[in-house]
Amino acid sequence: MKSYKFKALLQQEGWIDNAVVTIDNSGIIKEISAGTAGEAEVVNGFAMPGFQNAHSHAFQYAMAGIAERHENHEAADDFWTWREAMYQLALTMEPEDIEHVATMLYAEMVRHGYTHVAEFHYLHHDKNGQPYNNLAEHGERLIAAAANAGIKITLVPMFYQKGGFGMDPQPRQRRFISPTIADYFRLLEASHNATRAYEGASLGYGIHSLRAVQPSDINTTIKEGPKNIPFHIHIAEQLKEIEDAKIYLKQRPVEWLLNNTEVTDHFHLVHATHLTKEEIHGIARSGANVVLCPSTEGNLGDGIFPLKEFQKKGGRWSIGTDSHVGLNPLEELRILDYGQRLTSHQRNTFVASGEPDSGAYGYKQALLAGRKAMGNENTYYFEAGKPFDAVVYNAEAALLASSSAENRLSSIVYAADVAMTLGTIINGKWKVKNNIHSDHRDIVNNFVQCVAKLKIR
Ligand SMILES: [Zn+2]
Repeated sequence: MKSYKFKALLQQEGWIDNAVVTIDNSGIIKEISAGTAGEAEVVNGFAMPGFQNAHSHAFQYAMAGIAERHENHEAADDFWTWREAMYQLALTMEPEDIEHVATMLYAEMVRHGYTHVAEFHYLHHDKNGQPYNNLAEHGERLIAAAANAGIKITLVPMFYQKGGFGMDPQPRQRRFISPTIADYFRLLEASHNATRAYEGASLGYGIHSLRAVQPSDINTTIKEGPKNIPFHIHIAEQLKEIEDAKIYLKQRPVEWLLNNTEVTDHFHLVHATHLTKEEIHGIARSGANVVLCPSTEGNLGDGIFPLKEFQKKGGRWSIGTDSHVGLNPLEELRILDYGQRLTSHQRNTFVASGEPDSGAYGYKQALLAGRKAMGNENTYYFEAGKPFDAVVYNAEAALLASSSAENRLSSIVYAADVAMTLGTIINGKWKVKNNIHSDHRDIVNNFVQCVAKLKIR
């Protein structure tokens, strides 16, 4: 048993002052009370549930920030040229490279306050495109990386079969491909086995995108796939993808998905940037969640998600860091909100009925839909019987020390940075304290050596 006493702790109804959280040896909350510290570790900070990172491609962290040289500024440089650079990286990495890069990335996520990541995983095979003896070799590496960093992981192995709508896979996509549904289900089974190595690991499943799997196989995969775990899919990210879908599927991507599959609240539609009003309402009606990745979507020039209309219909959304060009959850929330403000010339773009505070609204959405993206249906912030996973902001940081409880959460969401955290606690243990991960030195050394070997930065 261990106890922490925080200056305040965030619950759904608001902040509890002087909250004492008692946890058992596995990091499960036994009791939350206000008042006497007893043997508790006193923390002069504000504890909130840890952020949920609902969309990650870990290997892409190795190229974060290095796709910004545009030598020929007359030539097109867009999502599709960036994708070529990403393919080249994907072809160079060995399993141990994936583990080192992912460990560094996940440790950085923890430093920024994320306590759980959904890894949208499609880099499955060896450099020649041959399955490893262990089909889930890379999945196992990603889980090992999460265990090293101390973050929880939902591994979401992706079905990737085609090279584009109606096209055979191209040679540079060879590491991604499962030719048949049976191949994909074998990969899923091996991935399920891999999750057993780490108690912080769980499984999701999904389809990389509508362009990556034959339409009839998408239907069958969803019909025959697992029923009670999250289903993830990239959808409607790029305008070209919309036009290609209209030609090949005769419908827009989200329109096709809603008309041809049984979309439920287990669905997590990643990006969903380009939507008609009917599609927005259709997603909200189905109960499906949207995963927004504002820093990556901005970096790739995707477009702006129609949040106002979606939230009017009660739509649910989470955040993810996707290509990892940004890892700050507060920045994801701000970019998302500011995109709405810049295009609507309004400031109250990030509110819902019953929740007038923008910071509280954004934080709650990202937390609860984020948990669903992990397969965690818990809707209460902190609760006895659940693991204690928290990010803690410094109560002595000037803006936070001087804010009323009412203004504290929005002061964090809109005006804080990672230097204002005291650390991140996962399963009741500090994984990052004062901005340093508990295994910082080894993790950084391994990452730097690995990237030097890859010769990409
Ligand atoms: Zn993605």
